Amino acid sequence: MSITFPDHIASLRASPASLLAKRAREHAQQGRDVVLFSSGELDFNTPAHVREAATRAATKCPVSYTNVDGSIELKEAVRQKFRDENDLDFGLEELLICNGSKQAMFNALVATIRLGDEVIIPSPYWVSYLDLATIAGAKPVIAETSVASDWKLTAEALEAAITSHTRWLIINNPVNPTGSIYSSEELENLAQVLRRHPQVLVMCDDLYEHIRFDDATFATFAAVASDMKDRTLTINGVSKAYAMMGWRIGYCGGARELISAMLKVQSQSTSNACTVSQAAAVAALTGPQDERFANLRALANVRRKVAKTLSSLPGLAWEPPSGTFYAFISCEDLLTSPGAKRLSLETDIQLADYLLNKHDLVVLPGKDCGLSPYIRINFAVRPELVEKGLGRLGLASAEILGT
Ligand code: PLP
Repeated sequence: MSITFPDHIASLRASPASLLAKRAREHAQQGRDVVLFSSGELDFNTPAHVREAATRAATKCPVSYTNVDGSIELKEAVRQKFRDENDLDFGLEELLICNGSKQAMFNALVATIRLGDEVIIPSPYWVSYLDLATIAGAKPVIAETSVASDWKLTAEALEAAITSHTRWLIINNPVNPTGSIYSSEELENLAQVLRRHPQVLVMCDDLYEHIRFDDATFATFAAVASDMKDRTLTINGVSKAYAMMGWRIGYCGGARELISAMLKVQSQSTSNACTVSQAAAVAALTGPQDERFANLRALANVRRKVAKTLSSLPGLAWEPPSGTFYAFISCEDLLTSPGAKRLSLETDIQLADYLLNKHDLVVLPGKDCGLSPYIRINFAVRPELVEKGLGRLGLASAEILGT
């Protein structure tokens, strides 16, 4: 029997990072010592008090459902977080707790997209935005950014991307994969354009809010353009802030009617986020923050080392940005070298394959983030692995360049 699928579902891709992780596991099963630089995970422990809160919640019988929109305790904690850190005031019915921030995006798009609607996605991007928009039946519209604008969407590029069909603009801040951070002024410039287009909703993905270096400041769109708070969905979560990727807790704040429509989608799909994980997220948001700060200091040290090593590698170029734990590295010089031609390496996909097959190093090709020729590496891994992985990258670039 052959099953046929609707075009928009047939066109979906599995997450490139998870496919790479699968290939890495296959290589490891063959006894190879693989260094995985392609994931979106932090190799840190979830804080001890968070794990203890989860244990307490898991040993309570029965472990019941919570309200679909989340436990009162977690919603109160999220309300307080938005107030204290983002200067945003939400009522409890304007908040939704989800199975990861990804589900907040899914709910919002499924709840609002009409046939023919468009979703503007600045590029380079986190690849899931495209597929999430596609699942909901929308057309993703890519708005390119450039190194000249520090990989941030400009007012001009936004204006050019908006049509009468635009339903959402996605703003990811700090940006995965480039690590750039929008200033208040840059967000206000985008708001000035959006005020002329009242049909456009704004989805702000602030998941990497806490991963910032060199005293970089952070502002979120709804606080900068408070007159547009009711058409902005502010999304965040505990995955990256507290090394809680697998706990699957995300949250969002927005207009009551939007949240209520999203709640219906969640209610008839997954129901509440895991009760145990919600208890853990309360502890993360309201408990001591010292492990989070210690992790950030450790990341800052690694980032310095990565910057030093990469600046000494010929053929590769990277300027450390202010946020995230990714290095988005240009490999243009490497791939236009005679050595690359000799090895038939033309694209970042081929380079990523070469690094995996020849050097047991897994990186994410820039193509999967909408921009080539780049590779993205995750440096939130153990320092000895960073060293080993960068060593292999150095060996590979020397081999390609013939130096
Ligand atoms: N947004 C961005 C930019 C991400 O990189 C990720 C995960 O890597 C997510 C959202 C989803 O995170 P989660 O669903 O764990 O909250």
